[in-house]
Amino acid sequence: MAWDFETEPEFQETLDWVETLVREEIEPLDLVLGNPYDKSDTKALDVVRPLQQQVRDRGLWAAHLGPELGGQGYGQLKLALMNEILGQSRWAPTVFGCQAPDTGNAEILAHFGTSEQKERYLEPLLNGEISSAYSMTEPHVGADPTLFKTRAELDGDEWVINGEKWFSSNARFASFLIVMAVTNTEVSAYQGMSMFIVPADTPGVNIIRNVGLGTEREGEGSHAYIRYENVRIPQDHLLGEEGGAFAIAQTRLGGGRIHHGMRTVGQCRRAFDMMCERALSRQTRDGPLASMGIVQEQIADSWIELEQFRLLVLRTAWLIDRHQDYRRVRKDIAAVKVTMPKVLANIAQRALHLHGALGVSNEMPFVGMLIGAESLALADGPTEVHKVTVARQVLREYKPVDGLWPSAHLPTRRAEARARFAEVLEHEVANS
Ligand SMILES: Cc1cc2nc3c(=O)[nH]c(=O)nc-3n(C[C@H](O)[C@H](O)[C@H](O)COP(=O)(O)OP(=O)(O)OC[C@H]3O[C@@H](n4cnc5c(N)ncnc54)[C@H](O)[C@@H]3O)c2cc1C
Repeated sequence: MAWDFETEPEFQETLDWVETLVREEIEPLDLVLGNPYDKSDTKALDVVRPLQQQVRDRGLWAAHLGPELGGQGYGQLKLALMNEILGQSRWAPTVFGCQAPDTGNAEILAHFGTSEQKERYLEPLLNGEISSAYSMTEPHVGADPTLFKTRAELDGDEWVINGEKWFSSNARFASFLIVMAVTNTEVSAYQGMSMFIVPADTPGVNIIRNVGLGTEREGEGSHAYIRYENVRIPQDHLLGEEGGAFAIAQTRLGGGRIHHGMRTVGQCRRAFDMMCERALSRQTRDGPLASMGIVQEQIADSWIELEQFRLLVLRTAWLIDRHQDYRRVRKDIAAVKVTMPKVLANIAQRALHLHGALGVSNEMPFVGMLIGAESLALADGPTEVHKVTVARQVLREYKPVDGLWPSAHLPTRRAEARARFAEVLEHEVANS
């Protein structure tokens, strides 16, 4: 029997170690350090480097990549159990070398990069020396790459890129950006787009503004609106094959989405823990909030949603390990993508509400969690698009019925059953 919901004792010890490091050493940093992607913040690096060394010594650095790609080869299931813990802290993924979007960028560089590209971009990225950005979405048609306008044209031995990109996360801290651009307008978008590695200091990479989320002040944000104006990069900065951008994007986004799902389990758990603590602590004239049936219902609903979501994530991680091919697990990854914002929003909203005014204040993390949930419903494509993926993949497992009536039509089935057992039934009638 392959169904097993237990963690191996040796790996549980590792998880306990991770949990202690995150609780005691990393979570306090979330409250005092700046942006984890800012590699020019030497004070932060002085604090974080020794912790990163502890993670390396324990063999847990860059656990998202297989050994052939420079990581530890733990597989997605173990990574999921680890990411549940890391997802509870802003700095923890960086301390463990598995922070998005660098993880996805490292994955495609490892899969599709040339040895020179790996040496120049992947190695420092995996070593945590630099940050990167992924520049795909365009302001006029965010969710639909088939309508992208950003062009890359070969001029001599250089590619020249022109166009605009929207919400390129962490571009302000990135040493390089991976940019998706149209290279051939004669063929369909699926064959006519390519990926490029663009060093961030290349002339013409112009950040128009850094857009913030929710209550972030203007200028504080890290999602760049970028204009690429005659950006010239060497020919060898094409990533993968010319026209291969879609396949590369799928590799990147498949991994990115499931990793977000794993970390979101951690966020949900954090909100849930706060909710339970509050329910037990806050007194009313009739006793603690936890004694009220209406509050118990919220706790029960939250626990059930969290456990369902967690099982979906773990099963999807297990399927990826089994098939070693994101494309075969598209439906499941899309289902995780659809579920995560909903579950996080539900639990964070209930937890916020039980905290009363404190819940909506800037003294608790709930508002950030709600914005985080909405962001998860958009980043890497909106929920609707992923629901369509789930439905299309599911429908492939079905076929239309022949004839007028559904296959479960009771009179038709009864007639078939009568015909099949006619002899027995007639015999019984004759004997009665
Ligand atoms: C926090 C965050 C980080 C991000 N980071 C990056 C990044 O690093 N790099 C990057 O390239 N992009 C990034 N994005 C952009 C993200 O990929 C886009 O927001 C997403 O693809 C949706 O595009 P849009 O925002 O332009 O929305 P639109 O495309 O304008 O969609 C708006 C709404 O229209 C509806 N809709 C759109 N298309 C369809 C459809 N086909 N079927 C049904 N309904 C539809 C949905 O309700 C959708 O929410 C990030 C976004 C967020 C929120």
